[in-house]
Amino acid sequence: MRAVIAWILLALAASAPRTGPAAAPVRPGREVAVTFDDLPGVSVSKAGASGETAALAAMTSRLLRTLGERHVPAVGFANTGKLGPAGSPSPERLAVLRSWRAAGLELGNHTFSHPDLHRAGLSAFERDVELGEPDLRALLAEDGGRLRWFRHPFLHTGLSLGDKQALEAFLAGRGCRIAPVTIDNSEWIFARAYSNALDSSARALADRVAAAYVPYMEAKFAYFERQSAAFFGREIRQVLLVHANSLNADHFDEVLAMLARRGYSLVTLDRALEDSAYATPDRYTANNGITWLHRWVLSAGGRVLPGEPATPPFVLAAAGVASE
Ligand SMILES: [Zn+2]
Repeated sequence: MRAVIAWILLALAASAPRTGPAAAPVRPGREVAVTFDDLPGVSVSKAGASGETAALAAMTSRLLRTLGERHVPAVGFANTGKLGPAGSPSPERLAVLRSWRAAGLELGNHTFSHPDLHRAGLSAFERDVELGEPDLRALLAEDGGRLRWFRHPFLHTGLSLGDKQALEAFLAGRGCRIAPVTIDNSEWIFARAYSNALDSSARALADRVAAAYVPYMEAKFAYFERQSAAFFGREIRQVLLVHANSLNADHFDEVLAMLARRGYSLVTLDRALEDSAYATPDRYTANNGITWLHRWVLSAGGRVLPGEPATPPFVLAAAGVASE
């Protein structure tokens, strides 16, 4: 009997769609929170702009128009070091960040200068977190907001449990909650390839990168939906990490259309983190900045699902990145 059941299960598994975005693309009730890192911007093309700050402002205005039209309750994570010296930010660059607030969006701290915790060490890293706060807190206070969120650069959370927990306590003491990521991806490589191509007037290459971007992101969603179901027995509320860049300014509407097609609603980060999945123990202390889904699997002694989508070689080459 047991053999028969096993055979039936095997037959069912074999007939089910196995991999790729085509596997059960639509499931109403899916939820995702969208987060943007490296504000005011990274991989921003300067083509057609009168300077770096003007390019940042133009990119931000296009991105915020997309987010506004689709009512995306996004959170942006800022590196205030990109605004100028701590305590005296450039008014023009501060205005770029202020436009996120004017669009009704949350802002969190992503440190002052984007240091790598695993290289800088805990003390130096904490000083950089503090350095990033005052200008951000002042900006948020202009409209009655307060600083509530923190995102680790490179998703590096500590090479020892001691460092990891000390940083968690340090952040909690400053009123900041860590924003985890479940839909991790290499969108930043696509974005670098895209802005490189635009800046060198390689329009056809930029278009090719953009055309590969949405299918790649859909494959990532399909993979993490499967990983979520494999570990939790259900699809959890996901958190997407992308960046404030020219690629998303020009093409994030297509990512949003893909998400709508897959049955996603766009929810706040608060709502996503109300999912009990986010209380799962995370004891991950290796050097890679990986999805929290894999941290939870590895912390439980499990094995991650094979088949995580990779970045196409032509995108890596156009970005000048040797490997993911
Ligand atoms: Zn970052």
